[in-house]
Amino acid sequence: MYPETFEGFAVTDTSKWSTVSKIDFKPKPFEEYDVDIRILACGVCGSDVHTVKGGWSQPMLPVIPGHEIIGEVIKVGDKVSTVKVGDRVGVGAQIYSCLDCETCKEDHENYCPKRVSTYNSLYADGSMAYGGYSSHIRAHEYFVFPIPDGLKTEDAAPMLCAGITTYAPLVENGCGPGKKVGIVGIGGLGHFAIMFAKALGAEVYTFSRTSKKAEDAKKLGSDYYIATYEEKDWAEKYAKKLDLIVSCGNSAQNFDLAGYLSCLRVHGKMISVGLPEEPFTVSAMPFMRGGVFFGSSHLGNRPQMLEMLKLAAEKNLTAWTERLPISESGIKEALERCHAGDVRYRFVLTGYDKFTA
Ligand code: NDP
Repeated sequence: MYPETFEGFAVTDTSKWSTVSKIDFKPKPFEEYDVDIRILACGVCGSDVHTVKGGWSQPMLPVIPGHEIIGEVIKVGDKVSTVKVGDRVGVGAQIYSCLDCETCKEDHENYCPKRVSTYNSLYADGSMAYGGYSSHIRAHEYFVFPIPDGLKTEDAAPMLCAGITTYAPLVENGCGPGKKVGIVGIGGLGHFAIMFAKALGAEVYTFSRTSKKAEDAKKLGSDYYIATYEEKDWAEKYAKKLDLIVSCGNSAQNFDLAGYLSCLRVHGKMISVGLPEEPFTVSAMPFMRGGVFFGSSHLGNRPQMLEMLKLAAEKNLTAWTERLPISESGIKEALERCHAGDVRYRFVLTGYDKFTA
């Protein structure tokens, strides 16, 4: 057991993607910048579902998902200077980058060609990265973030992926006072996108498929609500109105990309942080009509993560969570209900003291 071996709940077969079993695993060898963390809580992200289903590609089995982690530091390497034993810290969806290439030096470590994701990812030495449905995690200190005292563990865990993934493209693309910002899809990511867009001072337009989440959107800070499957002519009504759209939709089925693009002002941008398993389909025409741009974004960098946590603590922003125990049945329910869109708006796994290690 610890420190040689950690325990976690692994998916071993993509055809039984919600079934997990407990396994022991060896973390990567401990190095001078590494931090060992005893996990206290972990959010369940839409990416966990895409991965275990094999929806993006075949995962490297067994896979232990989980990349919205909060825990307590229990060991630090000799060169670690940013955290100490006993600190409460978070780990998101990235666990390593080289910190030496041009991309890293420009503070774009989230795009480093040598980056290692928190799970279903290999280190250069062949060690497998396993995620937060586990007793412990070992991470490079650059990817370990102190959690401000004002944030509760369970409410803050989803910020480590869902939060930063929406915060980063908002700040990078000018979200702020005087801007009109559209958010597509109210799920784990989308509910943060609404909160952060509002906290940054923008006027927020939320696009959801139905009217079911209208009240929630308002509580989260949305100024306008558009139920795209129910309202006729929404694309005409909001034509050329928005400066920026951040899409958090996890599917491209019945996804009216041309409609969203038509809602952008001239030279406006739409960023899909959502990563549907199927391709988007759109012709060149909607781009031409407003000279608009479409792109994507991956997580965020360390300064943005620290900034986001500070903002959340100052403005008292917390994830809307439902708690489930870290167990075979708890994980099964979390994965299946997340897949069905039956969560408002993030499952967080708790009860990690049941691990024996
Ligand atoms: P959730 O399941 O919590 O939310 C997904 C939301 O997408 C739903 O609530 C729904 O909102 C919306 N949606 C589903 N189908 C459609 C559709 N056909 N058209 C429009 N909207 C749709 O997932 P998460 O929030 O956890 O993740 C969202 C996506 O973001 C996933 O693809 C995930 O992999 C990706 N992701 C990307 C990251 C990155 O770095 N780029 C990092 C983390 C996650 P509604 O009911 O309101 O319509």
